[in-house]
This record gives sequence, C-alpha cells and structure tokens, in this order.
Amino acid sequence: MTRRIGALVERAAGPLEGRGLARPGGLTVIGYHRIDDTGGHLSVGVEHFKSHLDWIDESGFDVVDLTTAGFVQEGARPSVAITFDDGYLSVAESAWPELKARGWPAVLYVVPGYLDGDRAFPWDTSTRGSHAELVDRSRVRELARDGMTIGSHSLTHRYLPGLSTAVARAEILDSRRALEDLLGQEVVTFSYPMGGWNASLRDLVAEAGYATAVTVTRGRNHPDGDPLALRRPVVESDPADFVRTMKGYYDWLRPFDRWRETRRQARSHEGLPANHAGL
Ligand SMILES: [Zn+2]
Repeated sequence: MTRRIGALVERAAGPLEGRGLARPGGLTVIGYHRIDDTGGHLSVGVEHFKSHLDWIDESGFDVVDLTTAGFVQEGARPSVAITFDDGYLSVAESAWPELKARGWPAVLYVVPGYLDGDRAFPWDTSTRGSHAELVDRSRVRELARDGMTIGSHSLTHRYLPGLSTAVARAEILDSRRALEDLLGQEVVTFSYPMGGWNASLRDLVAEAGYATAVTVTRGRNHPDGDPLALRRPVVESDPADFVRTMKGYYDWLRPFDRWRETRRQARSHEGLPANHAGL
C-alpha cells in the first residue's frame, strides 16, 4: 500500500469514524513474519516493531491470545492478537523478548516439516542468510515453556486449496499432532499457508479440533464472525500504515481480498509452486 493511497484512505475513513459510522471495537489480529533489519519482503524492522507495540499500549487495546474462540466482545475495548507466521528465528530473538517484557501473549505459527536442522523455505534459499533462519525443535519447546503460544502453519507450507482432501487433512491434522507430540500440550490455533482457505478447508480445520484459525483477509473481527476464518491483515513496517490498519481504515478492502483469493483458487488446480514467495 503506497503512502499516497494510505493518506487518501485516512482522509476518507477518518470522518466515518468520527461520526460513529465505522463499526467500533472488535478484535484486530495482526500478522508478522520476520522481525529484523534486513529489509525486504515480509520483514518488519526491530524499532518499527517496538513502535507498533508502543502504539497498541498507548491506545488502550487489550492484547489477547487466540487459544479460545470466545474472545471477541462487542462494545468492549478494542482488542488485538499478535501473530507471527512461518517460525523465523528473528521472532524468537527480537520480538518475543519485547512482548514478554510487556506481559503480552502472542502466537508463533510454525511448520513442523521445517523444524529439523538446516531447513529453509524455498523462497528464502536464493537469499540465504541470518534472516532466513528458522526456529528448530528445541527452540519451539523453549518458547512454549516461556509462555509463547505455538500454532500450526501446516505440515509443509503448501497452498492447501490445490490439494486433495486427504492430503489437505494430513497437512492440517498431522501438523497439530506433530506439534502436540513435540510440546506435550494442546495446539489449538491454525494459520492457513499463504492465506489459502475455503469452506471445505475450514471444515477440515474444525474436524482437526482447532479453536481458531487465521487468514490474510484484511479487516477486524466481531462476535458474529467465524473463529476458524479470522480476518488478519499482514502488517508492514511503516508506523503510519500500522496505525491505519489498527484503526480499521483498510477494512473496506476485505471483499477485494476475498475476490483475489477466490480467483487464485480458480487458477490453482495443483497448488501454487513450492517457491511461491508466500505468507
Ligand atoms: Zn507462511
């Protein structure tokens, strides 16, 4: 989102909010990937990340976890859930200490197929470096013991809408079992790789026993929403853009996000390529 478009959105949405026309409250789930200063796709700088947390703190948001479905309360103070996809080591080293110091919960969505040894995601292999490093099994256990919520981001990070029901079920259910075996505790939240979800996948997520699941559709969540298809904007570094996201200025882009995802699924019969620089 360019700065100019962001400014236009703010001009348009500000008066709506001022007149009470925008739906108040609700839960904003925000999605990060890497927290480091290497720049590039899906990276948020360390100082920017801290400024996001400061804004949340100063703005009176309740910071909530995604371990139960009944967390969205209308009319109450606005709430936020902080999530990280893919399991990058930089989250363990730079983000979690900041969150823990504030006593805030957060979810790290990891991919069990990428927890062993020297593995890196296909989209990171051409630019391997410290930014591409992932947490391993012992680090995930350590984070869980330290209070971070661990969620599943599927077994191997494939685009689920392109898969057969049997394979998609394995990606969703077996990843939960693998993480529960590793952690010795329940894993109750799921993140659809690359935001790829539909009604059938949502039913598989329910069947697997998850309480919540997150997409990459923008917008806030309200009690009448589906806890297994939570809206979740992916956050960028720019503090001004972060504030617009948190104020719900981009909520109106939700239909566009859904349309884009539906079109992608129509074009993808065999799944997106493994090196898709995804989310
Ligand atoms: Zn991902």
